[in-house]
Amino acid sequence: MLKLREALKLIRDLVNPLAPKEVPIVDANGCRLMQEVVAEIDTPPFDNSAMDGFAFRHADFSGEGPWTFQVMDIIAAGDRPATKLLPGNTVKIMTGAPIIDGSDTVIKIESVSFQDGNVIVKDKPPLGMNVRPRGEDISKGANLFSKGDILSAVDLGLLASTGMRKVKVVPRPSLSLIATGSELIQPGNPLEFGQIYDSNRITIQNLLKNNGFYNISSTTASDDYTTLKKMIEKQLSDHDLIITIGGVSMGDFDHVPLLVKELGGEVVFHKVFMKPGKPIFLAEFTSNSLNSKWLVGLPGNPVSAIVSYHTFVKKILTELMDLPPSIITSKAILAEEIIVKSGRLKIIGVKVTEEKDGLKAYPIGRQSSGRLSSMKDANAFIQIEPDIEQLPANSK
Ligand code: AMP
Ligand code: MG
Repeated sequence: MLKLREALKLIRDLVNPLAPKEVPIVDANGCRLMQEVVAEIDTPPFDNSAMDGFAFRHADFSGEGPWTFQVMDIIAAGDRPATKLLPGNTVKIMTGAPIIDGSDTVIKIESVSFQDGNVIVKDKPPLGMNVRPRGEDISKGANLFSKGDILSAVDLGLLASTGMRKVKVVPRPSLSLIATGSELIQPGNPLEFGQIYDSNRITIQNLLKNNGFYNISSTTASDDYTTLKKMIEKQLSDHDLIITIGGVSMGDFDHVPLLVKELGGEVVFHKVFMKPGKPIFLAEFTSNSLNSKWLVGLPGNPVSAIVSYHTFVKKILTELMDLPPSIITSKAILAEEIIVKSGRLKIIGVKVTEEKDGLKAYPIGRQSSGRLSSMKDANAFIQIEPDIEQLPANSK
């Protein structure tokens, strides 16, 4: 049976990034940029006030103060001042409002006083105070981003501030999630004998949300061979990656591997030497012109599905998007002894907390692949090699 390391290498070697595509910037968060970006405008696009206050001609502050000014106008953000500031005058100006022609200096409202409707200034301001010059943030023609950069939320704001609406990126793959099982019923409905509530679909769908995938197709299917085959065939035509849950083990109604082969999928692997998650299944659907399509089959036991998501699905997604690995590994001190049966590589949920002497990992009780509650407090996993049966407390 394939080792985990070997399965992950197959994913790395075979799953290629999606073809670059121009997408609206709102859909580009976390994506790898596939073009250079040069600023097309100055931002800010005009000299503007950094304060709510009054705008002056600096030349008016000659001789000894205090100085008295007559108020000509009020300029709000978004206004287009028609007048020019006359000597001995001021205008009231709001933050972000264009600096009126003739003025060059702004004093904030808290620093002036008023008398008979006039504005009194006691201290001479430095020239240019509180004026944000055009292009101060980004100047037209500046190199904003290089090809290959990974766009953050702030980066998208930067693109928006220069007026860009679309960018060319490695796009987020389009996903379809299918929970299989004739025993499954949706929460909110009465439970008949033999049925269970579908918990995996909500878990996996929300793990996907945690990784930035909001718009996915999500359905449940019974274990009827023909119906499931039709559904997968349809989803394959619309999506880059199908994630099925359940139906990949050895049962009479575990149809996914066979129907994938009938649909022309090539099995990359089926079963990995690990616990939980052994039945994991990956298939590729090649096509001459387009990117391959993929189907990853997660085992249905809830803990297996979660472990398989973190171990395999995230890896496939980062390969499709050409991103660095999304799993963070660090060393922690084991708080209590763990005893396991030797055999397969084990992946065990633990609760890691930050303490004086560093990260500490607390076992959270007996875990088995069918007991979802045994994962309740886990915020990390530890891996235990197949030949190890006991990890003493305080091991790293
Ligand atoms: P399977 O992988 O289809 O053989 O399912 C293994 C076990 O997981 C069975 O006990 C199923 O009833 C259970 N299971 C499968 N899918 C789900 C689901 N969506 N939610 C909760 N349990 C499930
Ligand atoms: Mg099943």
